[in-house]
Amino acid sequence: MALNLESIGKKIGPYTREYTWNDVVLYAMGVGAGFSDLEYCYEKDLKVIPSFSIASIADFEFLSSIAVTARINLAGVLHGEQELYFHNPIPKEGTLTTEGKITHMYDKGDKGALIIAKFHTFHSNGQKLYTSIVTIFSRLNGGFGGPEAPKSKFIFPDREPDFIVEGHPSENQPLLYRLSGDVFQLHVDPDFAKASGFEKPIMHGLCTHGYACRALISSLIPGAPEKVRRMTCRFSKTLYPGEPIETLIWKTEEGKAVWKTIHRETREEIITNGVFEYGDPASEYIRFDNRVAVVTGAGAGLGRAYALELARRGAKVVVNDYGCKRDGTGSGSNSPAEDVVNKIKAAGGEAVANFDNVATTEGGQRIVQTALDTFGTIDILINNAGILRDKSFSKMSTDNWQAVLDVHLNGAYNVSKPAFQIMKDKGYGRIILTTSAAGLYGNFGQTNYSAAKLALTGLMNSLKLEGAKYNIKVNTIAPLAASRLTKDILPEDLFEKLQPEFVSPMTLILSSEECPVTGNIYNVGAGCFNRAAVVTGPGAVIGNGIPAPEEVLAGMEKISSMEGAKPYDQLNDLIGDVMAQFTPDKKS
Ligand code: NAD
Repeated sequence: MALNLESIGKKIGPYTREYTWNDVVLYAMGVGAGFSDLEYCYEKDLKVIPSFSIASIADFEFLSSIAVTARINLAGVLHGEQELYFHNPIPKEGTLTTEGKITHMYDKGDKGALIIAKFHTFHSNGQKLYTSIVTIFSRLNGGFGGPEAPKSKFIFPDREPDFIVEGHPSENQPLLYRLSGDVFQLHVDPDFAKASGFEKPIMHGLCTHGYACRALISSLIPGAPEKVRRMTCRFSKTLYPGEPIETLIWKTEEGKAVWKTIHRETREEIITNGVFEYGDPASEYIRFDNRVAVVTGAGAGLGRAYALELARRGAKVVVNDYGCKRDGTGSGSNSPAEDVVNKIKAAGGEAVANFDNVATTEGGQRIVQTALDTFGTIDILINNAGILRDKSFSKMSTDNWQAVLDVHLNGAYNVSKPAFQIMKDKGYGRIILTTSAAGLYGNFGQTNYSAAKLALTGLMNSLKLEGAKYNIKVNTIAPLAASRLTKDILPEDLFEKLQPEFVSPMTLILSSEECPVTGNIYNVGAGCFNRAAVVTGPGAVIGNGIPAPEEVLAGMEKISSMEGAKPYDQLNDLIGDVMAQFTPDKKS
């Protein structure tokens, strides 16, 4: 049966599960804890191993609802990858509520398909505890014509691990582990295991994962499981119960390590590509892992701030910058984009530089092609590149008019056009346009810039409607920040408060999966946030036929009144209101 592509984005759950300290201890013992780490096994001062989270949501009920909703062929299903983000420590008892959705389906042709689902779990104490991203590898669902998975590289440091932790799962380990919820026959029934191609029942991948979690905590944050922030990995090989393992850990920076779990004798990787982050709680659950973002004009100012923060939160970023002068002149320079890419890479992120000019059709195409060639797709486009050529209207040359429209308006069109097609095909996208208070409200000497900037909101108004069906959200930022563009416009004593980083939070929300809106405009800067909108007053119907100008003038006060003004979502809604005016009792 083919995968149900319509299931992408549909809510799954909520599912709830009550648990007590007995469940916590049972899980801990299932993943090998004992007297050596009694804090996980004794109800007095009990601590919860964070990987308990996935045991708690990986109830059959939950994972099987992904399989049923997506119409995955269960015969070929494997747990491919697992990512966990921890927002708050897991209490030792309570009720967990989990809900989420399928976010991606990738086609690996003959090899199968990847189905990715993301879940959030809340505790009955009101706190959000963790976010889980599960990648299911379905060997039998490939070739459905979907997009390819984004490419990514994982490189372990070329040196001995900083920690090696041995683990000795017993011959009976799966019998204990399965009591935490995963009662799949493959881990208990010898006949079933043989029929599935194995010598005997195999270890649960998540049981080995629990061993690794203990090993990571004892090596990096002994006795402090509440400091685990993130744990991700790929399951690469099955393990039989009773076989010895080693978890190899390389600390790469403060608060971060990479890890893998291997078979101690054969040295084969059982779990690989592991990342482990730890530190004090920060509720950074807006993440961009597996997302590919293109930011234009990202070599400086606002675009640079967006690119750095997106990459820090896991996005693979195409850093575009033409490297021109403030007025768009000059033959271009690679260094602004390259510097940002180097900074991202030095912090362990993924990025690629692109030096194309957004003002040309080919430039726009090449920018998007860079995303495809390097990372395989595009999920987020932030149209940010900009120039200024201010002149009062009477002194405005056609060149200055055209150049500004070319970069801002046509530039956004040139990059959004190829990006939109890819987003439409894959059923996901976030497009950000950058307007300006000059366009929204007017500014002396900026007719070219104001016209281009407000035109972008028109592009958004219609594109949001065309994208809605494909889960493409289109929003607009009107920033206020100290940068090369504003250095002689904004007062210098405000520069500290006007750092571009103050604008990034809203841009990141609008770029994220969590983005709750489409078609909105936000003024953002210096910690102030507000929504700008075109609103329409209730107005009045004048006369019984075609009114004379004098009659309209007499009604000007009422026509101009903004009392009760409201925004419209689209043209048809306005027409609906106009038509409603013709019902006799509404006429004035
Ligand atoms: P900035 O000059 O610091 O950065 C803009 C970047 O865009 C530069 O690095 C430049 O090289 C690049 N660029 C220019 N033309 C390009 C082209 N044709 N192709 C590719 N790259 C190009 O400016 P900023 O203040 O960070 O502005 C970013 C965006 O925000 C612009 O669209 C601007 O109009 C808008 N904006 C800024 C403010 C503000 O207060 N800074 C206010 C309103 C709107």
